Amino acid sequence: MINYRNLTPGELEAWVTEQGLPAYRARQLFRWLWRPGFDDFEQATDFSKSLRHQFARDGYIWTPEVLEIQNSTDNTQKFAWGLEDGEVIETVLIPERDHTTLCVSTQAGCAMGCRFCHTARMGFRRNLEPFEVAGQALWITDHVSEEQWPRNIVFMGMGEPLANYENLLKSLEILTHDLGLNFSLRRITVSTCGLVPEMLRLGHHLDVGLAVSLHAPDNETRNQIMPVNRRYDIDRLIRACRDFPLSKRRRITFEYLLLKDVNDSLEHARRLGRLLRGIPAKINLIPFNESPGIPFRRSSEEQMEEFQHALREMNYTVMMRKSKGRDISAACGQLYAEKAGH
Ligand code: SAH
Repeated sequence: MINYRNLTPGELEAWVTEQGLPAYRARQLFRWLWRPGFDDFEQATDFSKSLRHQFARDGYIWTPEVLEIQNSTDNTQKFAWGLEDGEVIETVLIPERDHTTLCVSTQAGCAMGCRFCHTARMGFRRNLEPFEVAGQALWITDHVSEEQWPRNIVFMGMGEPLANYENLLKSLEILTHDLGLNFSLRRITVSTCGLVPEMLRLGHHLDVGLAVSLHAPDNETRNQIMPVNRRYDIDRLIRACRDFPLSKRRRITFEYLLLKDVNDSLEHARRLGRLLRGIPAKINLIPFNESPGIPFRRSSEEQMEEFQHALREMNYTVMMRKSKGRDISAACGQLYAEKAGH
């Protein structure tokens, strides 16, 4: 049986016309499917009784169910979801001063193997389906107060979004459709560890925000901490960033995790500044969140300040990411879930 929520508007239309129904039924159905609280065709009052039965007979409606909600002292919330096959994924809801950001997962586990990341330790479990990505947002919009409604979505949860390319695109289509959740593409950012071909493909296809987890300014350092750098080294990655089709107001966000004595020296800062010269860039420095079993340490506050200062001197926009939700392991790189029942 099909899960209707896994279909994009186009796929839904194809399915509906295959059933001998007029195409506008697909639009009506899509609108119901992504309306918070809809879980039974009996609620679809603009369908005849027989049409409701037909839909209920041929498919079902399901999005991930929440297993646990943890609340951080800084108001960050972490949601754990159970999937149909027992996999568990996580989503983080981050209230900021004037808006809320939703951080979604695209894979159960991750195959990229970054040495500093806790999710990497789960190994790769599987790609998420479009409904499992968009469903994280649906449930949350249905269950939080209006002031907490997320405005921004970042694809910075578990997994490498660009390693699940087709489903990423479908989930973006669902999330931004005006008959659905109607998020603005302008307020969505996809973060990648640097899968160069998919990055360029995405940029040519959609005007979506791009964040690159760079974390080092030279191959020697990056090879040590990110295995993906052996596939697409810094030269290729930076060339792709220069070639990335950016619309006028956009900049690429470069994420840079500060690891004590690994990549946090002033020399690294200067090299980073030289590397990014000429790219419309925003640099996001991330204090390392320590996790058990991960052999890195957080840079000292002083060192982080100096690093930031050096880049500002070179005229970059630099932000220090405030770590949110550390007390509930909801901060960057801390997401980790065991399969239910194991
Ligand atoms: N795979 C994508 C999406 C994950 S985003 C990517 O790599 O961009 C999660 C961000 O948190 C990445 O920038 C990642 O490098 C960073 N991160 C991973 N482990 C971390 C840790 N222990 N402390 C702080 N940030 C971490």
